[in-house]
Amino acid sequence: MAYEIGTGLYINLSKGCTLHCQFCPKWTEPVVHDYDLALQHNPSAEEVIEAMGDFSGYEEIVFCGYGEPTLRLEVLLQVAAEVKKRGSQKVRINSDGLANKVHRRDITPRFKGLIDAISISLNAQDEAIYNRHCKPAMDNSYTAMLDFIRLVKETVPDVTLTAVDGLEGVDIEACRLIAEDEFGVKFRRRVLNNVG
Ligand code: SF4
Repeated sequence: MAYEIGTGLYINLSKGCTLHCQFCPKWTEPVVHDYDLALQHNPSAEEVIEAMGDFSGYEEIVFCGYGEPTLRLEVLLQVAAEVKKRGSQKVRINSDGLANKVHRRDITPRFKGLIDAISISLNAQDEAIYNRHCKPAMDNSYTAMLDFIRLVKETVPDVTLTAVDGLEGVDIEACRLIAEDEFGVKFRRRVLNNVG
């Protein structure tokens, strides 16, 4: 539920995913840095806060996975509020960017003051490549993710898009241009089979 990587405390919040990324170890061996991240159930905010223990020594709290953290939006916001109440840690979300589509409304204003940074899996330079590798459960997910990026920039100060280098058809430079030129946000290239 809570695991340490470097100076960050990572929070594993959700069993579920909106995507079924064919490159993701979640479906075969959900392990990161020797942590077994297979959740038996979706934890409550109280369970997560208890699992975090004394987090005062960490620089950053990261809602990550495996699993999509924003599927557990209320719990995520409760835990983030607790972090902001008790400490000064930066709060970051690693997300697929599909929260507005899942929740059927713009949830990004709720991040204001609670979420300092968000990494969004752009994953591809176009919808066809995205669908091939990410296998979204919902139609038009790629467009919904792009719309989410536009909106979340208004409330979250630090936005980064990511894509995985090494997947067939994924053009990392084109992804970088979408991030930097189209949206004016940061870009991070991830490496296939290098998690955490
Ligand atoms: S959204 Fe994240 S956790 Fe879910 S399948 Fe894709 S890469 Fe894995």
